[in-house]
Amino acid sequence: MLALFLFKWGIRCRQQRLLNLEDLAVLTTSRRSVKQRHCHPASPKKPPRMAGWWPSSVCFPRASVRHGFNLLAPYYHMMSIEDRQRMAASLLERLAQRKVFFTTSWDDGLRTDLPLVELGQKHRIPMMLFVCPRHPNGKAMTSGELRQVANGAEIGSHTLTHTPIDHCSPAVAREEVLAGRVFVEGTLGRPVPHFALVGGRYSSANLNAIAALFDSVRSTHAFNFFRPAHGALIKPSLQVRFDGRTHPLKMLWEAFMQLSFAGLLRVASRVAVGQRQHDMLAIIPEICAAPEIYLHLWGHSEEIEECDAWRDLESIFSVLNAINGVPMTYSEFIAAKQ
Ligand SMILES: [Zn+2]
Repeated sequence: MLALFLFKWGIRCRQQRLLNLEDLAVLTTSRRSVKQRHCHPASPKKPPRMAGWWPSSVCFPRASVRHGFNLLAPYYHMMSIEDRQRMAASLLERLAQRKVFFTTSWDDGLRTDLPLVELGQKHRIPMMLFVCPRHPNGKAMTSGELRQVANGAEIGSHTLTHTPIDHCSPAVAREEVLAGRVFVEGTLGRPVPHFALVGGRYSSANLNAIAALFDSVRSTHAFNFFRPAHGALIKPSLQVRFDGRTHPLKMLWEAFMQLSFAGLLRVASRVAVGQRQHDMLAIIPEICAAPEIYLHLWGHSEEIEECDAWRDLESIFSVLNAINGVPMTYSEFIAAKQ
């Protein structure tokens, strides 16, 4: 009896203070994903290193971990991000008294946006595509393709040639972002008032120089779950990314800037075991205490294609649908400014 108590107490400590079992499930999921990516001939990028302070956790055979979870299930709340129904049900329960408004935005305007928009329409996920008509990788959508996706998504601009505006003069920055906007407006024959910074990079002088040209300028900050602030950058919530993850220090810095101390600690525990931004969908109720949550996911369709992660993306869309969230177009989301 004493041994059983000590065992249970020990597991509880591990779960609550050191390693959440949910993280362990995500680690095993990540391990499978890494193998898949490693074998993918189209991906030129190295698979991400399995970060984490718990190396033994990734050595367990997947079946053993599942078996262990089943044994412990009656005693502990456990969930794998892979199990979208359970994740959605758990989120729904924890968000019962709250409202989640959500939107998504996708950068670069490459041809992989075509299947992305199709998937978005299938799941009724609102999408903003920030397009760059002369992307240097030569994979930009043609004008015809752009008009086609514009039927199922909003279109914003993302410079003409994918040039960051952090190391140029304000005049050059203005010229580059205006050229992109004019091109897209000419193709679609309608105003394109929203813009996304290339790589999230900017200098404050250049940001001031271009801010007046657009209704909104989206950055690549993270962990912002609040109503978009008037007159400021539009800071997204989480990046959907499968070819690696944001640098852990950057994630911690973003969490430090945007979240409460308790939220920062929650994020830090997930960052420590190798989680990515979008893995933290599962802990939104804990890291954001506001009664209204503004969830803005963003990413790159090209990277989804390279990692063959369409099914993973579909799982995320399914979760968004299942939590009774309120889908908003990007324009509506921006219009909800404080
Ligand atoms: Zn970009």
